[in-house]
Amino acid sequence: MSTAATADRVALVTGGNRGIGRAIAERLVRDGYRVAVTARSGSGPEGTLTVVADVNDAASLDAAIAQVEGELGPITTVVANAGITKDTLLMRMSDDDFSAVVDTNLGGAFRTVKRAIKSMIKARHGRIILISSVSGLYGVAGQANYSASKSGLVGFARAITRELGGRGITANVVAPGFIESDMTAELDDKTQAEYKKQIPAGRYGTGEEIAGVVSWLAGDDAAYISGAVIPVDGGLGMGH
Ligand code: NDP
Repeated sequence: MSTAATADRVALVTGGNRGIGRAIAERLVRDGYRVAVTARSGSGPEGTLTVVADVNDAASLDAAIAQVEGELGPITTVVANAGITKDTLLMRMSDDDFSAVVDTNLGGAFRTVKRAIKSMIKARHGRIILISSVSGLYGVAGQANYSASKSGLVGFARAITRELGGRGITANVVAPGFIESDMTAELDDKTQAEYKKQIPAGRYGTGEEIAGVVSWLAGDDAAYISGAVIPVDGGLGMGH
């Protein structure tokens, strides 16, 4: 629901053209934010401004963020969601598979947040939300690159909290478990069934369930929460 506060706020969601990022963008539109999404292909949901950007390409992010700020105003809320997997056992993992995943998931969040915080510092208000994964906390065999990148986001959020916490800026991590999306649809039926057995909730989560937590972290009720890691995983990672 739109409030006086959210109507003045501009949210940027990376990878908002599909999956979890799209659900987050839809929710923030419903909450009343002015929302921009980055996309390499396709476009964001209705009511959003789509800007073309690759989070691995600093120049394209510079141009995208300038466009968002020019058309919607200074960014107040950034959701670093864009991410990839390149799963294989460590023995078989190429240097390129490792670098590509870390550079997209962790480097991409760094490049996006670094550019978005300028206006937040000026406004003395900001919300930084990083989409990590249960994999980054629990560790998943076959995901050494992905787990390392997602765990790196925790240190990143906590360093930001110490640097910018005094300026009204919070930085938090959301750690989804298994969520219905193109990323999990790639798993074969047998693997999916095995994973479901391990989830106390007995089912995959939805993008909307991640979006609800992002919405709360972005809002005024979460103003005193920073450097936190919020699992949204049906109990899969309990205690990690
Ligand atoms: P999808 O594969 O459905 O979507 C990934 C999104 O990231 C797409 O919008 C994609 O854009 C974008 N993206 C990937 N690489 C880049 C890049 N270099 N530059 C810009 N955008 C890029 O994944 P999900 O929606 O499932 O995942 C979203 C986030 O949630 C990811 O960070 C993922 O790691 C995390 N996550 C997902 C879980 C799940 O079970 N699904 C569990 C835990 C965490 P494009 O369409 O152009 O490829």
